[in-house]
Amino acid sequence: MAARFGHRYPDRFVSAPVDNPYRLLPSVEEVLLQHGGQVEAAVGRDLAVRFARAAIDELRGRVVREALTVERLERELATGWLARDLFERVRRELGRGVRRAINATGVVLHTGLGRAVVDPEVARRMAEAASSYCVLEVDRETGQRNRRDDRLSELLTLATGAEAGIAVNNNAAAVFLCLSTFAQNRETIVSRGELVEIGGSFRMPDVMERAGTRLVEVGTTNRTRIDDYARALTADTGLLLKVHRSNFAVAGFVEEVSAVELGQLGEESGLVTSFDLGSGLLETEVPLGDAFRDETLVRAAVESGVSVVTFSGDKLMGGPQAGLVVGTALAVSAMRENPVYRAMRLDKVALAGLEATLERYVRGSGHELPVQRMLRATAAELAPRAARLAKSLADLAGVSARDEDADSEPGSGSAPGTKLPTRAVRVELAGRSADALADALRAGDPPIYTRIHEQAVWIDPRTLLEGDEEQVVGAFRALAGAEHD
Ligand SMILES: *Cc1c(COP(=O)(O)O)cnc(C)c1O
Repeated sequence: MAARFGHRYPDRFVSAPVDNPYRLLPSVEEVLLQHGGQVEAAVGRDLAVRFARAAIDELRGRVVREALTVERLERELATGWLARDLFERVRRELGRGVRRAINATGVVLHTGLGRAVVDPEVARRMAEAASSYCVLEVDRETGQRNRRDDRLSELLTLATGAEAGIAVNNNAAAVFLCLSTFAQNRETIVSRGELVEIGGSFRMPDVMERAGTRLVEVGTTNRTRIDDYARALTADTGLLLKVHRSNFAVAGFVEEVSAVELGQLGEESGLVTSFDLGSGLLETEVPLGDAFRDETLVRAAVESGVSVVTFSGDKLMGGPQAGLVVGTALAVSAMRENPVYRAMRLDKVALAGLEATLERYVRGSGHELPVQRMLRATAAELAPRAARLAKSLADLAGVSARDEDADSEPGSGSAPGTKLPTRAVRVELAGRSADALADALRAGDPPIYTRIHEQAVWIDPRTLLEGDEEQVVGAFRALAGAEHD
């Protein structure tokens, strides 16, 4: 097809002034006539026009930058430059947006790669809710209208021991709803050492302002005592808040107010207390191990006596994105009645996923969810997979690969500073820098995200899912093949 261009331009060139390569550039109409059909079928009319224009601009740019001669440009056109350029634009377009990716970074809750991977059975329930009608706000037995989150609330109480629970779109929304419900036009007291910024510009002080509450900071960056909270109480106080320092650790001369102390002060002063846990570690039959000993279990936070506990659905809990709120019946129903709750309510897909995830915890198999399994995997368990992958990669021409001890991370501000010992594969490809290799892996389909360390690319089996190993090897085979051509 591209060759037809080649036939046309020399004709034009014969009748055109001899040495002006710009005369050889086709018009948008000509490009569309030639390739428009295929491009349009793939990406639609508007983008086809945009791509044709961009291709011509690119070619014009090359004439300038590379001082292309008429002969050279003619040859490019005759050998299908335009078709290749358009094909590449279509390929990139079709790979944009939220797509499957392979996470070889070893960061389990990788925000850039979508945080928690849900269990296949959970995913099936979500897909089913999306692609069919579902029992959402009707009672199966009576046929009467009911609340969409009745089942979820029940599961939340079973999984955490709280009196009541609700869910909103994410934990940022849960915190906002809490502030808006209990402290609008009033004061919220929080420790100076806990005024955190969570990734994606969620800054506690800014959120408070938008929720209409006045921030009262107490204590110092490293030390806050319960007396600091007590002294700050006024007739205007609406809420006593504690925030988990999820993405940094403070070491040394440190003191923080425990949830128990905060709960007691709330009790004595008749005020609502809230603990924003962030990561949301639920109780499992098999505990999560030493790396997570500083993470407060949701159940423990509830038992400490605070009125409200908030946490994410897609961090340590390993479910779909959501913000979960558990606590006393009184506090949770006040949040439910806030009109803001309606604006933050979950859709049927997230609800189906949360129910399915929480059922696993309630039935005692929460520790088998993918996120939980990835976090639990020991270096010894990962070693055979790393060795196998290293061998398959090292068998490829130009590839050197060996498995070594390394560290993975929980990610997403869970257990800050925690390293999970792992066994990963260190790979190099002859003729490519580590950066160039990582770029090429990311450009593939599906994109593969790796870690660069000591001038090499590292593949951590901890975060590879079933079937990913073969695709990683396939990607390296293709790159090694290209390098040898
Ligand atoms: C992650 C986190 C949030 C934000 O949760 P999202 O579900 O991402 O909205 C809020 N507070 C703390 C302490 C967190 O760790």
